[in-house]
Amino acid sequence: MNTNDPSFLKLNPETFIQNSPSPFPDERSLEKLAREMFGALQSFGGGNLPTSGLPTNGLSSPTSSQETLPYLEDLKLTDTGFSYSNFQSFPNINIPQSGGGNLTSARRDFPILTETVNGKPLVWLDNAATTQKPISVIERLSHFYLHENSNIHRAAHTLAARSTDAYEKARSLVQGFIGAGSAEEIVFVRGTTEGINLLANIISDKHIQSGDEILITHLEHHANIVPWQMVCAKKGAKLKVAPVDDSGQIILSEYERLLNSKTKIVSITQVSNALGTVVPVEEMTRSAHKVGALVIVDGAQSVSHMPVNVQEIDCDFFVFSGHKLFAPTGIGVVYGKKSILDTLPPWQGGGNMIKDVQFDHTTFQEAPFRFEAGTGNIADAVGLGAAIEYLNRFGMKQISAFEHDLLEYGTKELLKIPGLRLIGTAKDKAGVLSFVVDGFKTEEIGKRLAEEGIAVRAGHHCAQPILRRFGLESTVRPSLAFYNSCEDIDALIRVLYQLGSRNKLGI
Ligand code: PLP
Repeated sequence: MNTNDPSFLKLNPETFIQNSPSPFPDERSLEKLAREMFGALQSFGGGNLPTSGLPTNGLSSPTSSQETLPYLEDLKLTDTGFSYSNFQSFPNINIPQSGGGNLTSARRDFPILTETVNGKPLVWLDNAATTQKPISVIERLSHFYLHENSNIHRAAHTLAARSTDAYEKARSLVQGFIGAGSAEEIVFVRGTTEGINLLANIISDKHIQSGDEILITHLEHHANIVPWQMVCAKKGAKLKVAPVDDSGQIILSEYERLLNSKTKIVSITQVSNALGTVVPVEEMTRSAHKVGALVIVDGAQSVSHMPVNVQEIDCDFFVFSGHKLFAPTGIGVVYGKKSILDTLPPWQGGGNMIKDVQFDHTTFQEAPFRFEAGTGNIADAVGLGAAIEYLNRFGMKQISAFEHDLLEYGTKELLKIPGLRLIGTAKDKAGVLSFVVDGFKTEEIGKRLAEEGIAVRAGHHCAQPILRRFGLESTVRPSLAFYNSCEDIDALIRVLYQLGSRNKLGI
């Protein structure tokens, strides 16, 4: 078997059958397959892979002898089963933001980018919807299920300690990545949408009265509009919207004018998913704090494109989704200042979030656990940690500079196309090139690009209000990541030119 062939990574059921003496794979053939998988995963990318902490030969676990398991050491069994009192002793990890790894070869770390679609090489320009996963993340998930899988926090056995350590290490990695003060400020959720809904519920219970105001911007994704509409309907509060100018940037004077003593929550995106506008969240947070409002920053589209430091922004909460940060789906993060999180009530009740339960009374854990009821997405949190470790090899500063050049190149080339109108022309932009072309429906362009193996989004991008601000129901939206190249943009431009000439000829 050629383990350097990335197609090997496609786990198709036939591979199982070929490797098995019977149609049903027995244990030995499964083990053989697993061994081969690891071999392939490790050799993929020409030695480009990080192997630290991962098994070096087949299924043997690096942690099988003399393992250091901080959780097991710290675990205090109490009358009620377990205690988190030693949470602080988990090492906080300080992440360097400038790893200096070579970005030009990063593409090779993403096996899916070698796929062909309709006989053409895949060009993935749908990164604002979701990003592709590096081999180190895929490998980390396999490792978790092969060696660590257990529920966390609740048992004194070794696998529970392994999985708890892996999960809490991921929390510390997130903390370092976004510059939070401590790992206790990091709550794992399903994604940005769940994070905003969690905040809408726990903050509004305590902080919103009838007549209060919640301020968002015209740029918001539906995930940062609808939960606030629901709060307003329930509490009798008002939703206010800060407008944008014709470039798609917030009109700061108007935003300031909307802030007043009734404003209790300001919830703003850091980067617009539809236009790519980078919003001055630091300045907006400062103004919001002057009127005593709590500030939530939606970082779904910012974390993958630029360094983020929540303490520098000084926002009270920050949310993002793992799947837009080269990590698995189903995992996301709510950062909250510890001093505020500890004053807020839980949202969902159940196991994991309690200290003590009696029929007439329950006491809750401190943050972050009080917000993580039930069994969380353990493996994918660990995968998110692996994605962050991968990004740290390059550093977000380098990634941001590289993407900035790519965005400039794409903008310049797109603007040469007759009849093309860029939607979103703010001075400060990241990752997104939304456009429409005279005489073509956006779906038509999306479909034509798909035929050539080029994946872009064509539609309303779950941000209908901002598109309507520009008189549109939909745009074509190529969106970038650091594994994209000028060649990817050239492939897109080529198809757009072909479309234009077909139109002229009336074909
Ligand atoms: N906020 C922004 C700015 C987004 O771009 C998205 C998704 O595209 C979301 C929120 C919702 O993220 P998710 O679907 O991962 O919960």
